Amino acid sequence: MKLVILDRDGTINSDSDDFVKTPDEWLPLPGSLEAIARLNHAGWHVVIASNQSGLGRGLFDVASLNAMHAKMHKMLAAIGGRVDAVFYCPHSPEESCNCRKPLPGLFEQIGARFGVPLKGVPTAGDSLRDLQAGAAAGCEPHLVLTGKSAKGQPDGLPAGTTVHKDLAAFADFILQRAAKPLAVAI
Ligand SMILES: [Mg+2]
Ligand SMILES: [Zn+2]
Repeated sequence: MKLVILDRDGTINSDSDDFVKTPDEWLPLPGSLEAIARLNHAGWHVVIASNQSGLGRGLFDVASLNAMHAKMHKMLAAIGGRVDAVFYCPHSPEESCNCRKPLPGLFEQIGARFGVPLKGVPTAGDSLRDLQAGAAAGCEPHLVLTGKSAKGQPDGLPAGTTVHKDLAAFADFILQRAAKPLAVAI
């Protein structure tokens, strides 16, 4: 199974310091949904791993979160794209869970659910903690310079991190790499 794991806020949709709390506030970044659709058309399954501490902080409820994702799924379907699943951490930082990024719990849940070894699975996010979580789970880290990294990349990126302008550039990278013919030893 060809799997990529994506962060949500700041990677697929605009982030907000005030949290994204309603479907109206859920606005895709330019080209991000198309990037997911292009990955899908090349056979990649796309799954989201997202910290949603706004739930634990009482800023919105699960019904609102589901409504945001219904909007996302509908917009994706309109362009032939699909996200297979959204895994989220609902906890506030004080709850000391093991699924809030930078801890790898969400990624491990995804690997278990899909029965996929996470070693080398590409993961893209706009924050250091996204890549720390992915790298801790064995994934291949990719930073997008949108959202939290729109003003520049953070220090301390995990070894082997590849940096891309945005999710469209990440998709280009994945698709071009897959299209390269294998070297043939004679
Ligand atoms: Mg983010
Ligand atoms: Zn959690």
